[in-house]
Amino acid sequence: MNQPTQQVDIAIAGAGMVGATLALLLRQANPNWRILVVEPHPQQTSDDYNPSFDDRSTALSWRTREVFEGLGLWQQLEQRAAAIEQIQVSDRGHIASTQLSACEQGMTAYGYVVENRWLGQILQQQLANSDITLAAPATIEQVTMTANGAELSISNSNTPITCELLIVADGARSTTRDLLGIGVDVQDYGQMGLIANIALAQPHNGVAYERFTANGPMALLPLPDSSEGQHRSALVWTLPPDQAKHLSDCDEAEFLAQLQQVFGYRQGNLLGVGERHLYPLKLMETCEQVRRHLVVVGNAAHSLHPVAGQGFNLAIRDIAALVEVLAEGTNNGCDLGDLALLQKYQNSRESDQQRTVAASHWLPKFFAVDNPTAALARGAGLFAMDMVPSLRGQFARYGMGVE
Ligand SMILES: Cc1cc2nc3c(=O)[nH]c(=O)nc-3n(C[C@H](O)[C@H](O)[C@H](O)COP(=O)(O)OP(=O)(O)OC[C@H]3O[C@@H](n4cnc5c(N)ncnc54)[C@H](O)[C@@H]3O)c2cc1C
Repeated sequence: MNQPTQQVDIAIAGAGMVGATLALLLRQANPNWRILVVEPHPQQTSDDYNPSFDDRSTALSWRTREVFEGLGLWQQLEQRAAAIEQIQVSDRGHIASTQLSACEQGMTAYGYVVENRWLGQILQQQLANSDITLAAPATIEQVTMTANGAELSISNSNTPITCELLIVADGARSTTRDLLGIGVDVQDYGQMGLIANIALAQPHNGVAYERFTANGPMALLPLPDSSEGQHRSALVWTLPPDQAKHLSDCDEAEFLAQLQQVFGYRQGNLLGVGERHLYPLKLMETCEQVRRHLVVVGNAAHSLHPVAGQGFNLAIRDIAALVEVLAEGTNNGCDLGDLALLQKYQNSRESDQQRTVAASHWLPKFFAVDNPTAALARGAGLFAMDMVPSLRGQFARYGMGVE
C-alpha cells in the first residue's frame, strides 16, 4: 500500500524575514496555490525567539516599502518606522563628507528603519490570518528531488510532503541547501558586527550616519522614539573580533565613551546603550540558485556585509521578481518547477545581484585602506558627491533600491 502524502504546490523552508514575506507574496499572486512553510521556531507569539526577528533593526529601501504596500502591510509597519530623510557619509580622521538629502531627489524619504521584532510580529500575524499552512516548530530532515518536484520529511510529522516547487529560505547556514548538496562560496571578513540601540540626547531628525573608520564602517540609523519619549538610533558597528568582544562585554560608560570618540558629537551626547549583540561578518554566495523544481533565496542564496543595509532589500527584489515570473509562467501553461521558468527568474536578477554584492563587498574594503593615497581618493569621491547633485542622486537611488 502506498504511504499517504501531504501534497502542496509550493513548500518554503524558513519563515524568517524573507520566507514569510515570500509566502504572502505567493498567496497574493495566486489564491489557489497550496503553500506550506516549514520553520523550526514557534510562531505567532511576540515573545518567541526567531533569529530573523531579533534585536536588530533593518533599513528598508523605498522599493521594499512598495512591496509591503502592495501586501497591504505598510500602514501597520509605518506606525513604528523612522524615515531616513538624510544620509551623512563621512570618513573618520578626514574632513571630506557628503550629505544626501531625500528632499533633493524629490522624495520624502530614502527609506525607513524598523525593528526586526516589529516586522516579525506583523508578518507572523499575517501568516496566521492566511490559509498558508505553517509547520512550526519543525525542520526539513530529508529532501528527495523527484521527476515531478520534491519529497520532504519534516520533523513534526510522519507523513511525507510532496511539492512541485521547493523554495529554500532558511538563512545563511541553510541546512536544506546542505541536504541538497548545494555548495557555497564564503569569504570571511574576519570582523564582527556589533548591534545595539543607542539613547540620544537630541532628536536624530531623520538623519542616518554612515561613518567609515580604519576598523570598518559604522552606521547609526534613526529609530522612532521609545514609548517613554527617548530619542533612539540603531547602531551597526564593524569591529575586529577582540575589540567587538570587549565592547560587547564592557560596562555602559566605557562603551559610550568609546563610541562617542569614534562617532563624534553629531548627535550630541550619547546617553545609553541597550542590549548588545555580535554577528560574524561573511560574504556567502550559493553556487546554485535554481534547479528544476528548486529555488534558493534570501540569506540562503547570498548573505552580505551589512554596511549598505542591502541584504534584505536585495532579497525582497529577488522574491518580488520570482513571484512575478511564476505567476506569469503558470498563467501561460508552464509548471511551477519548470527549469526554463526558474532560469528566466535567475537571469532577470543577475545584474542587480552582482552589483549589490560587489558594492557591499568593496565599499568597506575601500574605506578601510589606511594610506594617504586611498584617503585622498576617498576624500575626492565624497567631495565630488557633495558638489555634484547628479552623483548624489545616483548614489541615493542605488541605496533606495530603485536603480
Ligand atoms: C547586523 C546586521 C544588520 C543588517 N541590516 C540590514 C539592513 O539594514 N537592511 C537590509 O536590507 N538588510 C540588513 N541585514 C541583512 C538581513 O538581516 C538579512 O538579509 C535577512 O535577515 C535575511 O533573511 P532570511 O529570511 O533570508 O534569513 P534569516 O533571517 O536567517 O531567516 C532564516 C529563517 O529560516 C529558519 N530556519 C533555519 N533552519 C531551518 C531549517 N532547517 N528548516 C526550515 N527553516 C529553517 C530560521 O529559524 C529563520 O526563521 C543585516 C544583517 C545583519 C547581520
